[in-house]
Amino acid sequence: MGNEVTHWQGQHVTVAGLGVSGVPAAKVLHGLGARVTVVNDGADERARAQAAELEALGITVRLGDGDSLPQGTELIVTAPGWKPTKPLFAAAAAAGVPVWGDVELAWRLRGENAAPWLAVTGTNGKTTTVQMLASILNAAGLRTAAVGNIGVSLLDAVTGEQEYDVLAVELSSYQLHWAPSLRAHSAAVLNLAPDHLDWHGSMEAYAADKGRIYAGNQVACVYNVADQATEDLVREADVEEGCRAIGFTLGAPAPSQLGVVDGILVDRAFVENRRKNAQELAEVTDVNPPAPHNIANALAAAALARAYGVPAAAVRDGLRAFTPDAHRIAHVADLDEVAYVDDSKATNTHAAEASLAAYESIVWIAGGLAKGATFDELVTGAAKRLRGVVLIGADRALIREALARHAPQVPVVDLDRTDTGAMLAAVQEARRLARPGDTVLLAPACASMDMFVNYNKRGDAFAQAVRELGA
Ligand code: ADP
Repeated sequence: MGNEVTHWQGQHVTVAGLGVSGVPAAKVLHGLGARVTVVNDGADERARAQAAELEALGITVRLGDGDSLPQGTELIVTAPGWKPTKPLFAAAAAAGVPVWGDVELAWRLRGENAAPWLAVTGTNGKTTTVQMLASILNAAGLRTAAVGNIGVSLLDAVTGEQEYDVLAVELSSYQLHWAPSLRAHSAAVLNLAPDHLDWHGSMEAYAADKGRIYAGNQVACVYNVADQATEDLVREADVEEGCRAIGFTLGAPAPSQLGVVDGILVDRAFVENRRKNAQELAEVTDVNPPAPHNIANALAAAALARAYGVPAAAVRDGLRAFTPDAHRIAHVADLDEVAYVDDSKATNTHAAEASLAAYESIVWIAGGLAKGATFDELVTGAAKRLRGVVLIGADRALIREALARHAPQVPVVDLDRTDTGAMLAAVQEARRLARPGDTVLLAPACASMDMFVNYNKRGDAFAQAVRELGA
């Protein structure tokens, strides 16, 4: 750390935003000798408590003043969610002050011989894929962690005591936007669908930020064969000499791809003579749950692990050992030969599309806050598989209208409720509509905050309601 201490000593660093990334960033920079000022828009109770904690260490905090640039600032370290259009950044640009996000800071603070990063982004599936990857790396006997929005924080992973061989890193489009010098060993973009466009300004800007994950990759840029936009990003990327483009597909793999043949995940990329040979990695049934989008996640994780040199058996063992986080296609119970599945984490239409594709005959519970989304494509794609639909939440009319347009034959129960207790009524209605062999699927395609604190609570309410029905 010797060089870095000299480098940081006395530097005027402004940390923009308290919270999950700001508080630890301020502490670490302060510990390195920087003169840290934290600026924050709000001044609520939580912010005041965090400010008091930092001030006790000798860090300056300005609450309710997130837009003016403190005098003497030499560097801004911003919370990833802060919009690039904020006046603070215009002031920084005018003054020639660089802006780093939390990921950029972590990347720059890595010591010598630091663990390489295997990085994952995409509109959906990031957390799952990173956890699968960490499980595979673990099975190979490597010291690793799933870092990012889940598990260990990036800053802890690079500045803490624990030593790692390799890290499985989840990165959001916001984080990538603010991480100009990040250079991963290998990286994957799982998929690209419109999301967070209000923040990025346009689909092009969103894609460009996601594409930064490939910059400087050394061994493999992993893309989704079914999603041309991800392959386009690889083509545009400026990578290290010799770095390869590796596709993953749910079909049979071409050379330099991983894919599926007769229920087996196979590798035609990291094998000798890939024109002729393929390596069996695992069975589809080793993936939990074996829904199509999740098999895609497993293939992406396997591709990154193989790029790092992990043997095939560790891919299988790692996938078998993996259990998904709560509320991601979680099987809650079977009642009267109907399965009840909680995919409360399907908070946008792209995610809901994936979970609706995973079942043959569905009673779909949907609705919440639409965040500007439209539902025509989602409903058209799922229409054949819908036994019925139960709608809840603030923006349910948008889904009801799409159903009327594209699936008029499907029975719809519009609960016209946004109270928390509506979930029990929704599950009761769903039970009434369901036939043996069906799946009652909570995949709201919407955010939860109109009715619940977050998607966890929404999923918990669903599971609780199912238990009450079964009692
Ligand atoms: P993220 O971290 O990107 O939000 P998660 O792994 O937490 O992703 O999964 C979020 C939701 O997205 C899941 O509940 C599921 O509905 C959906 N999902 C997961 N993987 C994929 C994928 N590869 N393609 C589309 N949707 C997916």
